Amino acid sequence: MSKANETGHRRVIILGSGPAGLTAAIYAGRANLKPMLLAGNEPGGQLTLTTDVENYPGYPEGVQGPEMMEQFRSQAERFETEFVSGHVVGVEIGQRPFVLHLEDGNQFTCDSLIIATGASARWLGLESETKLRGRGVSACATCDGFFFKDRVVGVVGGGDTAMEEALFLTKFASTVHVIHRRDELRASAIMQKRALNNKKINFIWNSVVEEILSEDGSAVEAISLKNVKTDEVSSLSVGGLFIAIGHTPNTEIFNGKMDMNNEGYIDTIAPGTHTSVEGVFACGDAADSIYRQAVTAAGTGCMAAIDAERWLASNE
Ligand code: NAP
Repeated sequence: MSKANETGHRRVIILGSGPAGLTAAIYAGRANLKPMLLAGNEPGGQLTLTTDVENYPGYPEGVQGPEMMEQFRSQAERFETEFVSGHVVGVEIGQRPFVLHLEDGNQFTCDSLIIATGASARWLGLESETKLRGRGVSACATCDGFFFKDRVVGVVGGGDTAMEEALFLTKFASTVHVIHRRDELRASAIMQKRALNNKKINFIWNSVVEEILSEDGSAVEAISLKNVKTDEVSSLSVGGLFIAIGHTPNTEIFNGKMDMNNEGYIDTIAPGTHTSVEGVFACGDAADSIYRQAVTAAGTGCMAAIDAERWLASNE
């Protein structure tokens, strides 16, 4: 196998810069593999879109998601990770070395590849939602909540993300309506309790958003809701709508090239991070539809780097 050099070839390339990718970089760096990390479209991953992280061990007072990712990155830099800000649009993994094609036309090759591309927020799929994105429709309360001071806003979803977004928005908004398609929340007990006990949060059960309304298309003014039990349609005035209905793994470029489940999460071979393609390893949310936590992503990132290091050693 060829060694890392200046011509675009690396022993290991890591795709993704969330907790999985950055932890893989720390471990691969400390193993002297001089990893290259391609940061992708959402540098820092989903944690850069979140507020307080209270469940990552080692931070007894909690930490802001973006701050934690900065710390991960500094640690990876300390061990000579080469950060490249590109986004990969195509891969050739049917032969080695693997070839990665970047959006800007650049290409890199590598002996081993660690996929840590994470997952991205899901949207409802309404035309009005696309048109009004950035004009009152958002998937990130941390980024946009500040714009809704003393306004009424809506949050769609019944999971932990929806509860977290709703609670964060109560810092700014006068009222937060949580719109959920069932009459039972999916969120963890502690998050449910916090949201249900917050006087600024109002729950609208068994309801879906049918349309997001805006007279001139410049700002959200209201939403049209349908009660799925009674089919009754009603209108609700809101100045903003936050969509918090889960995530889709960022694995499209690997479609048909490796084994995945039917939601697009990459299959790994237990108990490690090996995939159906030898020399390709997967970690973090791209390969995890169950736990999807920062700490589990970091854990599998560590495993992927160790698996890649051992695989390279046995193949060189
Ligand atoms: P999730 O648990 O999959 O919840 C998605 C929610 O959106 C569900 O309530 C679902 O309804 C609803 N939904 C999905 N598609 C919809 C659609 N088209 N229209 C309307 N509603 C729709 O996703 P998540 O909340 O993003 O959480 C993902 C994982 O991250 C979970 O494991 C969660 O525990 C974790 N997480 C943890 C924290 C924390 O601990 N602080 C914070 C955020 C996330 P149904 O319930 O009817 O399916």
